[in-house]
Amino acid sequence: GQTPVTVIGLGMMGSALAEAFLKAGHPTTVWNRSAEKADALVAKGAILVASPAEAVSASPLIVVCVLDYEAVHEIMGPAGGLLAGRTVMNLTNGKPEQARKAAKWAAEQGADYLDGGIMAVPQMIAGPEAFLLYSGSLEAFETYRRELDVLGASNYLGEDAGLAAFYDLALLSAMYGMFGGFYHAVALVGTEKVEASAFTALVVPWLQAMLASLPLQAQAMDANVHATDVSSLYINKIGFVNLIEASQEQGISTELVAPLQALVDRAVAEGYGADGLSRLAGLLKKPK
Ligand code: NDP
Repeated sequence: GQTPVTVIGLGMMGSALAEAFLKAGHPTTVWNRSAEKADALVAKGAILVASPAEAVSASPLIVVCVLDYEAVHEIMGPAGGLLAGRTVMNLTNGKPEQARKAAKWAAEQGADYLDGGIMAVPQMIAGPEAFLLYSGSLEAFETYRRELDVLGASNYLGEDAGLAAFYDLALLSAMYGMFGGFYHAVALVGTEKVEASAFTALVVPWLQAMLASLPLQAQAMDANVHATDVSSLYINKIGFVNLIEASQEQGISTELVAPLQALVDRAVAEGYGADGLSRLAGLLKKPK
């Protein structure tokens, strides 16, 4: 039969994880602080237990996905004595240092530890575009590879348990930057009563075209050669003034885009006006 799996935490994400395991045929035990969130899963065959200790005892693989690491320790602490010989897979968002501490704690309990970052929203879990980052015990990753693959494509980054959180936060940063630009753009066109949906039909192909420039910018960053025949930082500095002033004239906040303008200005002030935008990442390594 299929490996029994426990899922602790049935928020939006934990529920999606538990449902994916159920669909794949795994006996799935669940626990959540607010028990009623298990109702739909129980109707689909999940086993609801009354305590984290019972949840831990039910399976060799314990998946934890809650608000933050504080909650992880609050829930798992009292069940620590039951962890020996089991694998804890923590998919809670956190910092590399928190993941390393959790790995150390799990090792002290005699448990294997895998930390994970979910690069998907709940609706994408078990679908073709979901991917997850893992770090920590290689043995655990290899032992439970089939179970992990149920959730999405599995990417193992290394034995340092902090790596998954590290990459996860970097990827989230790229996402937030893109969303931030989008939100400013929607607010700006909104001042002329353009609906977000209509405008987004233009944003998507534009961003798709700009995404294609990332591998080229990355090559320039790796070589630290930023000569450009695309567009110079100087011309971006001039254009940025127009974006900021037009936004102000339309009466909208520039709080999302002003920091990027400040970095472009600093690059030009430091003598990099002829370089391309790829110069900017390196400037963050030496804060002003
Ligand atoms: P939700 O807010 O939907 O769920 C939070 C969960 O944490 C609930 O199960 C809640 O229990 C539990 N919880 C919070 N505090 C405590 C506590 N002190 N003790 C016990 N349980 C606690 O969040 P998500 O499911 O969306 O997110 C969970 C994790 O998944 C986060 O780390 C998030 O960053 C990560 N993630 C989420 C993604 C998403 O798109 N949603 C994408 C990628 C990662 P209760 O129901 O009792 O409140």
